[in-house]
Amino acid sequence: MTVKAYGAHGGDQPLEAMDITRRAVGAHDVQIDIAYCGVCHSDLHQARGEWGNTQYPCVPGHEIVGRVAAVGAHVSSVRPGDLVGVGCIVDSCKQCEDCDAGLENYCDGMIGTYNFPTADEPGWTLGGYSQQVVVHERYVLRVSHPEAQLAAVAPLLCAGITTYSPLRHYNAGPGKKVGIVGIGGLGHMGIKLAHAMGAHVVAFTTSESKREAARDLGADEVVLSSSAEEMAAHAKTFDLIINTVAAPHDLDAFLTLLKRDGNLTLVGAPASPHPSPAVFNLIFKRRAIAGSMIGGIPETQEMLDFCARHGIVSDIELIKASEINESYERMLKGDVKYRFVIDSATLTA
Ligand code: NAP
Ligand code: ZN
Repeated sequence: MTVKAYGAHGGDQPLEAMDITRRAVGAHDVQIDIAYCGVCHSDLHQARGEWGNTQYPCVPGHEIVGRVAAVGAHVSSVRPGDLVGVGCIVDSCKQCEDCDAGLENYCDGMIGTYNFPTADEPGWTLGGYSQQVVVHERYVLRVSHPEAQLAAVAPLLCAGITTYSPLRHYNAGPGKKVGIVGIGGLGHMGIKLAHAMGAHVVAFTTSESKREAARDLGADEVVLSSSAEEMAAHAKTFDLIINTVAAPHDLDAFLTLLKRDGNLTLVGAPASPHPSPAVFNLIFKRRAIAGSMIGGIPETQEMLDFCARHGIVSDIELIKASEINESYERMLKGDVKYRFVIDSATLTA
């Protein structure tokens, strides 16, 4: 089946309309009419070849929501007409320790929603900037938010789970002081989620213009990270800091804000490395630097249900598919509150 999509033919080329092929619906597959797809900074890194592994044509998009169009003979988890989501994972080995633990995100055979090997044409996965997608039922999430919120649910599938997972893993909640660095797509979700979990939330931003807005998202305090004085006021006080920044920067500035056994979790994935932090900032107070990648399928469902219960969605700006290149430029400037979402109906415009 041929469907309309938007993608790039090269790292130095703009995204443009293209036709792509989706496989026939297999016995365990779910065919989804995509209604909306969020625009993650990872899409930009990948489309522009910044991680050095992009296959072209590249159709990004891993914050997919829509309605089930058809299901294979053995599918029992969803039915045609259901509202569903697909995040960053469309397949995995299904038999390793990680898959058994519901941590498909850490399976060595994980297949990402775009740019991963597949038997489907053209040999690598093509993402959600498209009209339809066909996915094994294991990787299809149920959406219980009201349909009117569907566009704003899309970013939960990556930005939401990527911040939810480390917040849960490190037990963010009442009595914990949690920092969120970078108020973009991931960061604004991190603030909302940490607030809903009951933590004391401090947002770190480089943008003075986001100071008030961060409070509206649920931050108890906002720190301008370029102000040494504001940073020093929080020295040795954090249990957990989640860093979403998409560019290399000085990590020591945040390490020194952790208390004993505090953890700095890096989720931002810059194209080039951060300068190595000072070892003494780790060994004093037994601090740790960790990484975290999206989340497993059961945890993604848990996150969606948590958000539905707490009335949490992303703050979005809906765009036409043809506005994607301009949106990438604006995302690079931090000029979005806080996530662009493509209205898939505009793929045919
Ligand atoms: P985004 O919307 O562009 O947000 C990043 C934010 O970081 C910006 O809004 C800005 O916030 C801050 N920032 C950007 N450049 C900066 C710089 N040079 N110095 C200091 N702060 C800067 O991006 P996103 O979609 O949230 O993604 C963030 C990163 O996470 C990307 O690298 C992406 O690839 C990665 N990611 C990782 C995972 C994972 O599984 N680990 C999943 C999804 C995405 P302020 O204006 O508030 O400073
Ligand atoms: Zn993403």
